[in-house]
Amino acid sequence: SSFKDLGLIEELCTACETLGYKKPTPIQVSSIPPVISGRDIIGLAETGSGKSAAFSLPMLQGLMSKPQPFYGLVLAPTRELAYQLSAAIESLGSTIGVRVVTITGGMDMVPQSIALGKKPHFVVATPGRLLDHLENTRGFSLKQLKVLVMDEADRLLDMDFGPLLTKILNAIPSQRQTLLFSATMSNKVESLQRASLSNPLRVSV
Ligand code: AMP
Repeated sequence: SSFKDLGLIEELCTACETLGYKKPTPIQVSSIPPVISGRDIIGLAETGSGKSAAFSLPMLQGLMSKPQPFYGLVLAPTRELAYQLSAAIESLGSTIGVRVVTITGGMDMVPQSIALGKKPHFVVATPGRLLDHLENTRGFSLKQLKVLVMDEADRLLDMDFGPLLTKILNAIPSQRQTLLFSATMSNKVESLQRASLSNPLRVSV
């Protein structure tokens, strides 16, 4: 199948073509249509499977159909992954003018607060610094959020971000779409799934 067959709009198919993606990977084939239709998914996939595009493409399509600030939040366990994911969303969304802000520790708070004040479409963040902004950056809220992605959920939990995830979940709408990706399914990931996803479709490669 092609990206177009999966239901993606032309702008996003063009972006894939520009990036040299000839056809969707298996995780993209199984994730993109259900995410476009609004379902929660739990994706069992390793880095290298094309999972970033598997959630970014349908999320960008959702943004296009109803553009708004703070449409999506992507949580990642490390700074490196957060920057990689931001770069992926920016390149896939370049044809639709997407604006993404990356929020991680180890950087000054003030430029991050200013960037958040410009109301990007997506925030890609590590949990600790995101909470710091939710608690301390005036005017910043995720009360309008439509989609939450938790990437490498097993690592998020191994790094003891569980309590921070609970706080973040309390700061965003319960009516939202949630996409959880993990390389492994542990008991901790199972309980995060029960706490944060609604009737999820399980996709694996
Ligand atoms: P990921 O698993 O999301 O980290 O992606 C791994 C690598 O595969 C990245 O360099 C992507 O740019 C690339 N990639 C993602 N989807 C495709 C595709 N459909 N065709 C070719 N390369 C892809």
